[in-house]
Amino acid sequence: MVHPHTPASWSALPMFFNDSHRDLGALCSRVLTDGDVALHEPARVIPRLAELGLLRVLVPDSYVSLTRKPVAPRIDVRALSIARESLAYVSPLADSIFAVQGLGSYPLLLAGEAVQRRAFLDEVVRGSRVCAFALTEPEAGTDVASLRTTAFRDGEAWVLDGEKVYISNVGIADSYIVFANAAPEKGKKGITAFLVDAKTEGLTTEPIAMSVDHPLGRIRMDGCRVPGSSLVGEVGHGLRLALGTLDMFRTSVGAAAVGMARRALDEALARTKTRVQFGKPLAEFQLTQAALADMATELDASRLLVYRAAWEKDQPGAETDAARRASAVSVAMAKMYATEAAQRIIDRAVQLFGGLGVTDRCIVDRLYREIRPLRIYEGTTEIQKLIIGAALVAPAVLATSRD
Ligand SMILES: Cc1cc2nc3c(=O)[nH]c(=O)nc-3n(C[C@H](O)[C@H](O)[C@H](O)COP(=O)(O)OP(=O)(O)OC[C@H]3O[C@@H](n4cnc5c(N)ncnc54)[C@H](O)[C@@H]3O)c2cc1C
Repeated sequence: MVHPHTPASWSALPMFFNDSHRDLGALCSRVLTDGDVALHEPARVIPRLAELGLLRVLVPDSYVSLTRKPVAPRIDVRALSIARESLAYVSPLADSIFAVQGLGSYPLLLAGEAVQRRAFLDEVVRGSRVCAFALTEPEAGTDVASLRTTAFRDGEAWVLDGEKVYISNVGIADSYIVFANAAPEKGKKGITAFLVDAKTEGLTTEPIAMSVDHPLGRIRMDGCRVPGSSLVGEVGHGLRLALGTLDMFRTSVGAAAVGMARRALDEALARTKTRVQFGKPLAEFQLTQAALADMATELDASRLLVYRAAWEKDQPGAETDAARRASAVSVAMAKMYATEAAQRIIDRAVQLFGGLGVTDRCIVDRLYREIRPLRIYEGTTEIQKLIIGAALVAPAVLATSRD
C-alpha cells in the first residue's frame, strides 16, 4: 500500500518534531508493511518489533542496565506517538500489543528498583518478555480506586487474591503489573503495584473474545503467592503509579486513532478514484469530495491536537505534578477528539466503499471494528470531557468565590 497522505504526517508539523522524530517516522514508513505477517499474529508481534528496533521507544537507552534510579524517567511521547500512528496504520493489532508492552513496563521505569529494572527492561527491549497491565476489575472500571484485589504480606512473600478483567495481552503475556490493595483499611492509599509472572501458581487466565482478533482476557488470582521482590515502588503508591502510567500513554491512544483514520482516508481515496458509477470515478462527484474533505480536515485537526499534547509532555519539567495538571487538558482533548473523529472518518470510508465496506475481509470494515475500543480504554470519552470541563469551570468558580 502506498501511503498517499503520509507526507503531511511529519513534514507538515515541523514545529513539533526534531531530527530524531523525523528519522523514526522515516524508519517506520520503510519497515512497517502490510505484507509483514508477523505484525498480524499476536505471538509474533513483540519479537518482530524488537527486530525492527521499535521497542527501544518504550525503554530509553539510559534506563537499561542503570545501577542508579533515574531522576526523571521519560519516554519521548512524540516518538511513542509516531510509532503508534505508524503501527496502527498497518496493523492495529501490532499497535495494541506494542502499547501494552509499554503500559506493562513503564511502572518499572517509574518506580522499579535497580535490580528489577536491569533484568526486566532489558528483556522488554529484546522482545523476550511480553508485558501486560492489570488494573480493571469487574466492579472497578472507570472508578479504578475502588478495586478489590487484595495483597497480604506473609513473611517475605505477598499473597494476591482477586479478579481482573479486559486485560490486553492475556494469552501472550509473560508478566503482569497487578494493582492490588495491600492496606484495604486505608482505601485507595493502600493500592500497591506488583510484578507478577504469568506462570505463578494461583494465577489463571481466560480469554475474552472481541469483535476483532486481539489478545484480551480475565485474570483470577487465588492465593497467588509472589516473592517480596515483586513489589513495584512503595506500598500504597500503586494508584499514583497506575495513573502516572496512563497519563504518559493517553496521548498515544489519540496517535493510534490518527493512524487508523489516515489509513481509512487513504483507502477511501484509492477506492473512489477507481470505482466507476454513472460513467465516471466516484471521486469526481462533489458529494464524494465533500466527504473526503471532511475526513482530511478532521484527520489534520486530530493530528495537531495529538502532537501538540505530545510536544507538551516532552518539555523539560513535564513530569512534575504541576506540569501534568497543566497538560491534562491538552492530553484529554487529543485523546477524545482523535478517537471520536477517527470513528467518524472510518465510518465515512465504509460509506464510500458501499456494500464492499461491510464485508469481513475489507480493510475499512476491520478498521470500523478496530477503532471502537479506543473511545473506551485509558479513560473513556466521558472522562476526558469531565477533565476538560472541570478545568474550564474551575477558574470561573474560583473567580466567583473571590468576588
Ligand atoms: C479492548 C480493551 C482493552 C482493555 N485493556 C485493558 C488493560 O490492558 N488493562 C486494564 O486494566 N484495563 C483494560 N481495559 C479496561 C478499560 O480501561 C475499561 O473498560 C474502562 O476504564 C471503562 O471501564 P468499564 O468498562 O468498567 O466501564 P464503566 O466504568 O462501567 O463505564 C460505563 C460507561 O459509564 C461512563 N461513566 C463512568 N463513570 C462516569 C462518570 N463519572 N460520569 C459520566 N459517565 C461515566 C463511562 O464513560 C462509560 O461510558 C480494556 C478495555 C477494552 C475495551
